[in-house]
Amino acid sequence: MKLKGDQTTARAMNRRLILNLLRQEGPKSRAELATVTRLSPAAVTFVVGDLMDEGIVTEGEAVSSLTGRRPTPVQINYGHGLALGFKLMVDTVECVATDLATNPLAAIRIPLQSHEPDDVADTLASTVPRLIELAGRQDARLAGIGISMPGVINHEQTICVRSHRFKWDDVALASLVAKRVDAPVWLEDDTNAYAIAQQLFGLGRQHKNMAVLAVGVGISCALVIEGKLYRGANGAAGKFGHTLYEEDGRLCECGKRGCLMAYHSEASMLRRWREATGGRATELRSALADKDPIAVKIVEDAGRSIGTALANLINVTDPEVIVAGGEAVSLGEHFLAPLRKTLALRTFRAPPPILPDWEDNSWARGAAALVTQRMFDFESSGGITNPTDGSASGAAARLGARK
Ligand SMILES: [Zn+2]
Repeated sequence: MKLKGDQTTARAMNRRLILNLLRQEGPKSRAELATVTRLSPAAVTFVVGDLMDEGIVTEGEAVSSLTGRRPTPVQINYGHGLALGFKLMVDTVECVATDLATNPLAAIRIPLQSHEPDDVADTLASTVPRLIELAGRQDARLAGIGISMPGVINHEQTICVRSHRFKWDDVALASLVAKRVDAPVWLEDDTNAYAIAQQLFGLGRQHKNMAVLAVGVGISCALVIEGKLYRGANGAAGKFGHTLYEEDGRLCECGKRGCLMAYHSEASMLRRWREATGGRATELRSALADKDPIAVKIVEDAGRSIGTALANLINVTDPEVIVAGGEAVSLGEHFLAPLRKTLALRTFRAPPPILPDWEDNSWARGAAALVTQRMFDFESSGGITNPTDGSASGAAARLGARK
């Protein structure tokens, strides 16, 4: 969505400035907002008035002190709406209902029986009422639905252009769901969605330039540059797991040979562990705990190899921090120590800190963040609503800038 006219653009920019300051630093008085943003007190009062009318911000308690009454702080009203997040995996869906700060109110995991797009849309749509009920917020305004999945997603965040894991080409999943549920729907690559959540409310909250490293079924990266997710020309940025590890090597899910993730994703580590032990394998994590030398070698090898590739990425993009997520994080220091050590050897400057994310449901929260990102970034897509019913688009409009 493009905003028209200088005045509208200025107003939208002021909104974004104020909302992002309140998100990063918590409640502030109008006077403090004016000082920090260098906007005029009149402009701040105007924008805050708008946001209060829309229910997006509320006034907090004014604290009295010996020197008199302090000015009333304003704060974001994260309870103003309900966001639903669905993270699609090959055979299950992680589902979460959150407030607008992606704090979970309810979470469930459901089986995914089929990859047929209409079946997937049916499954998600039928879970919506259940999630809202579990969240105990039947009266809340449904701000929207975010869906994340591994793949290349269009810039409008509605169509899966290609997913190797789902074998999808040009599947308009967001509109399939929007036809079934009266709410705006967004679709995004799972690592990108995770990065949005980490940047808005997670470990990357204080950083404008950060990278996310995700090591699970695949290996991927997402880059946030100057506070914005970098999606590339085709939405295909961050396919880090498909960088070359070994010429003419193992076959990867993308159809090419020798990709990094064909050797060192968590799924590949498990496969190599099974191969190395001829099927007698105990669980990889318990073998690691027992310091089994084969298990330790596989995991350390992955840490080093991913570290080498990550050092290249750091040398090109210079992030402030790297947030590490995905199943491999739970392999702990066996994985992270060699990764850090390799970075120290290979990066041009001192490597940025690796911040492991231990939270359980942060991937589904990432999907929910697709709904709330719009409060903070008016350039982002408006999602998609059922074209025959205009009522839901109003909900999206209230969350973001005026059209
Ligand atoms: Zn590949």
